[in-house]
Amino acid sequence: MAVLAEQFDVVVLGGGPAGYATALYGAAAGLDIALIEEGRVGGTCLHRGCIPAKELLQTAEVLRTVQRAPDFGVDAGMPSLDLARSQARKREVVDRLTKGLETLLKGRKVTVFDQRGEVVDAAAHAVRLDDGTEVRGDNLVIATGSYPRSLPRLDFDASRVLSSDHVLDLEELPARVAIIGGGVIGAEFASMLSDMGSDVTILEALPRILAPTDVDAGNVVARSFKKRGVAVHTSARVTGIEGSTELTVTWETDSGESSVVVDKIIVSVGRAPRSAGIGLDESGVEIDDRGFVVVDEQLRTAVPGVFAAGDVVDSPALAHVGFAEAIVIVKTILGEAVTPIDYAKVPWVVYSHPEVAWCGLTEEQAREQGHDVVVTTHRFAGDGRAMILGDTDGLVKLVADADGQLLGVHIAGPWATELLGEGYLSVNWEANAADVAALVHPHPTLSEVFGEAALALTGRPLH
Ligand code: NAD
Repeated sequence: MAVLAEQFDVVVLGGGPAGYATALYGAAAGLDIALIEEGRVGGTCLHRGCIPAKELLQTAEVLRTVQRAPDFGVDAGMPSLDLARSQARKREVVDRLTKGLETLLKGRKVTVFDQRGEVVDAAAHAVRLDDGTEVRGDNLVIATGSYPRSLPRLDFDASRVLSSDHVLDLEELPARVAIIGGGVIGAEFASMLSDMGSDVTILEALPRILAPTDVDAGNVVARSFKKRGVAVHTSARVTGIEGSTELTVTWETDSGESSVVVDKIIVSVGRAPRSAGIGLDESGVEIDDRGFVVVDEQLRTAVPGVFAAGDVVDSPALAHVGFAEAIVIVKTILGEAVTPIDYAKVPWVVYSHPEVAWCGLTEEQAREQGHDVVVTTHRFAGDGRAMILGDTDGLVKLVADADGQLLGVHIAGPWATELLGEGYLSVNWEANAADVAALVHPHPTLSEVFGEAALALTGRPLH
């Protein structure tokens, strides 16, 4: 017999970025919210993604910095890596953020059920918890996230074949690694493990790694990998994996078959939505053939009062997109005016070394869409601050229409992920290069390169 808990304004299934943001933003607007999460709140981002990955990438950055200390006249000895210690620091950061989130939810009077939930009646917005409690709401938000995709006949086993979840818990550095899939996760792990001292081979099916980036920005990373000894094989089709402790990975390209012997294989070929096993079969909520919950631009499913957000819907699988979707949902529930998210202009940030960040159209996309395209590229090599940092690899590329309207901003290089903010605003406010060029950029900074690029687009560069 189901025990009926109190009725809420909104029931949220899943406590990752999309789910907890719905809870926090909704509660801030005075809604009574139930948040159902079987693990600790925070989801993939906080426990198996953004935060732990960037924390470990920071270890790689510190190691790189100390290795370069003699260039600055600083004798720091010979640095060495203690990955177990780094993991402990990662856990501290994750734990602090998780506790902070738990405190925020408590402060906003969100009722958190730390159990598994399954939708039992979508039309009634009812979710049953493992202990039989039924939680109902005037609205229901599905935010159950995603999981790493595996490849056929190559199941994750946590010891030889690793998903991103396993990589983030490595206590010892593998000597030799093959990474299948050179997308965002593959590039970040290749960068991190190579900087830490592993021999890394990337096998990517497409003609280039980081395929969604503008080609000039993506090439900055590809060239850096080459310089650092990361073997990158593109247009590669993995044809065989053999061995038990040592693994021989074989692949084919147009130029023939090759192989490498490694200790671990990392599979980073994308993530799949977690829409099965949560009671959505025959619920009336539509699911597409790839498993994504189908929603409209206000994140409404086919069932009135049922919404979905985050990685379980077919939008960019990014925590900040989940946050934005949560806000759209809460405003929709409140009956407020909503501006739909322009998914083609959301910011992307990759924390490889060098970093890459972008928003809007690549040069290629802009041409395909029929724009009369104007492009300018400015390199960090001539920037004073970049020289001072000793980190001059990279560029800022602006893609504009012939009338100067900025269509895309692409940055590869030092602190690209932080520098994107200005580019993001410019593209999303549909700024003209001349407007941006008239703004003063502080000197000496990395951000000057953006200003210089905008000036160049007006036809009169400064430096
Ligand atoms: P991805 O889609 O970025 O990259 C997967 C890559 O694997 C693609 O380049 C694809 O061509 C390749 N691939 C697929 N099958 C293959 C095969 N059989 N052999 C060789 N290559 C193959 O996916 P991901 O890197 O797993 O990341 C998943 C998502 O997680 C990202 O799209 C992103 O939304 C999110 N993410 C974001 C960040 C960030 O913002 N910094 C970091 C990590 C992950």
